[in-house]
Amino acid sequence: MNIHEYQAKELLKSYGVPTPIGGVAYSDAQAAQVAEEIGGERWVVKAQIHAGGRGKAGGVKVVDTIEAVRKTTDSLIGTHLVTHQTGPEGSVVQRVWIEQASQIKKEYYLGLVIDRGTQRITIIASSEGGMDIEEVAKATPEKIIKEVVDPAIGLRDFQCRKVATAIGLKGKLMPQAVKLIKSLYRCLRDRDALQAEINPLAVVTLGEEEKLMVLDAKFNFDDNALYRQKAITEMRDLAEEDPKEVEASGHGLNYIALDGNIGCIVNGAGLAMASLDAITLHGGRPANFLDVGGGASPEKVTNACRIVLEDPNVKAILVNIFAGINRCDWIALGLIQACNALQIKVPLIVRLAGTNVEEGRKILAESGLKFITAENLDAAAAKAVAIVKG
Ligand code: GDP
Ligand code: MN
Repeated sequence: MNIHEYQAKELLKSYGVPTPIGGVAYSDAQAAQVAEEIGGERWVVKAQIHAGGRGKAGGVKVVDTIEAVRKTTDSLIGTHLVTHQTGPEGSVVQRVWIEQASQIKKEYYLGLVIDRGTQRITIIASSEGGMDIEEVAKATPEKIIKEVVDPAIGLRDFQCRKVATAIGLKGKLMPQAVKLIKSLYRCLRDRDALQAEINPLAVVTLGEEEKLMVLDAKFNFDDNALYRQKAITEMRDLAEEDPKEVEASGHGLNYIALDGNIGCIVNGAGLAMASLDAITLHGGRPANFLDVGGGASPEKVTNACRIVLEDPNVKAILVNIFAGINRCDWIALGLIQACNALQIKVPLIVRLAGTNVEEGRKILAESGLKFITAENLDAAAAKAVAIVKG
């Protein structure tokens, strides 16, 4: 689960991490009011969408009058902001974050990720902040600093100093960097985040002083831990998620929309991935990933069909079930129920194997409905691809 920048900043603030003074606004009038309240002479108006790359896309504007805060907010709210991370349809801006503009001296990158390779929380930092970290990693990999945290020991001060030194922070900024990195680490651990990214982390000037400040923050939380993270779960913005994915999760289905035209209904995440691969191997393009899980009832299968068919691109559905905990007869009943209830017009290619397979096949054959059956995944994928290609 992702959250908005303003939520990330409020969260970080509660961990003592310095962020600029600001407030969220849902309208131009509210934005002007927030700017008045926070005071100052320059403000940053930032479109709140889950995707990054807003700066380059015109979603981050620095202005110096309250009137400009109002106008900029008006021009952003309600628009589809398209960034290199949103896809061509963009994300609708429903609110903006207004903050006091900072006097930026230099921008850095600071991230914490759970590295699957080492199975450890890893600090990633760079002196080249503000821009795409992927670009920095490609063009100048030596400018990416990594520090691995031993879970049995936790993050030590010397590691924070090592990272800070490597990206060029020194003097009075050093203790600030140590405190900030440790707070970020504590936040990530406490809140079951998988990833926290601060880009830019900036050195800003406040009169004579120099201060480290978080100017942008992104978090990704572990969905499997949300049950014990009430405050985080409340930050969920369903408008930012695919409505089909939200509906599917409500039915205990794991659905992820893709951009092809062959819908997929499979049991088990591994088999679902293999099914996508098989379709691709035969020259087709899957419309979705969908794992119905174990013990899929006829109702669950019907819901799965309905969600898959909500995607107008779907020209055929591949059903691939290798039943262990599942029962092929239940799947077959579910498919018949779905065909009748949903008036399914697209061809269904069905591959059943495992528990009660004979019964399942019999139910399909005697249903009077036109199912295209296949003996194995490879044959089923080949048939599905041949059908959509006409
Ligand atoms: P992103 O493009 O979605 O990652 O949005 P960011 O919040 O990172 O903003 C992009 C860029 O806008 C930053 O790298 C900064 O250079 C600039 N920016 C963001 N906040 C401020 C601010 O408070 N003051 C100033 N002067 N520039 C800012
Ligand atoms: Mn950023």
